[in-house]
Amino acid sequence: RALTGDLPAESTVEELLQAAHARYAPLGEGEVADYIPALAEADPALFGLALTEVDGTQHLAGDTSAPFTIQSISKAFVLALVLEAIGHEEVHRIVGVNNTGLPFNSVIALELNAGSPMNPMVNAGAIATTALMPGADAEQRWQGVHEGLSRFAGRSLEIDERVLRSESASNHRNRGIASLLASYERLRGDAPEMVEVYTRQCSLLVTAEDLAVMGATLADGGLNPVTGEQVVSAEVCRDTLAVLAACGMYELSGEWQFEIGLPAKSGVSGGIVAVAPGKGALGVFSPPLDRAGNSVRGQRACAHLARTLGLNLFAST
Ligand code: GLU
Repeated sequence: RALTGDLPAESTVEELLQAAHARYAPLGEGEVADYIPALAEADPALFGLALTEVDGTQHLAGDTSAPFTIQSISKAFVLALVLEAIGHEEVHRIVGVNNTGLPFNSVIALELNAGSPMNPMVNAGAIATTALMPGADAEQRWQGVHEGLSRFAGRSLEIDERVLRSESASNHRNRGIASLLASYERLRGDAPEMVEVYTRQCSLLVTAEDLAVMGATLADGGLNPVTGEQVVSAEVCRDTLAVLAACGMYELSGEWQFEIGLPAKSGVSGGIVAVAPGKGALGVFSPPLDRAGNSVRGQRACAHLARTLGLNLFAST
């Protein structure tokens, strides 16, 4: 079990979370993603802020039980499952751990790097990582992803079939990326099938509360603090969080670290999970995004809470 951190007293954490929610709820900036048609229907006013501590204590503010599709945040947890299955060296060798500096769905990034996907947080690397899940076929890999992500959340996650259909009908770019990976012999599986598994994993429904529990599992050396289940090892959490620190917030990961200082992952439906190792995790949901794909309210709330709760990993005081 990871060391129990030094978060302020529970009543203070609760007050600070409620205050952060009240402070950023009126913020009107950002645009809801619309490149996946079904996501354009999201209510821009939704805003949920959840914090799970490594002792299992939970704090909730606003729309923390509103369901949304996990999208790119799934990449963080599939990476953890693949690290657990094949180890640090293989993930480093096959996928990589460096930020591309380019958008998450860039084709140029692949071409510039001789077909290396560079890291598991961009679409190319995520599709390559999903293909590394154990299993003889796509169905077995999907089962591993579904069961694994559900163990992180502590409940059985369900697919949003509408979003899945919408993305499956419009994800020409991801199919192109997977074919390009295959042309470089960098994909351990059939390209259309691996895109299908990846698209399903992105369509799993979660809440801000789920994200906080999933993140707290990474903060707690792989032990889900709510269910008590050991989901992955502490070494896997360390490796996963290192990748999130470098690549979790798209091409703006440097700015996120400069302002907030925590491993984190965002997704285009407006979720963010931010992990404070040994302490706990924040799960945030608010659909309006900045130009890179990060929730605007989510970033502001995380920045505020990182300051008031003393979470910034680079701060010595
Ligand atoms: N399913 C989305 C895609 O592949 C996820 C994008 C994201 O959240 O960054 O385009």
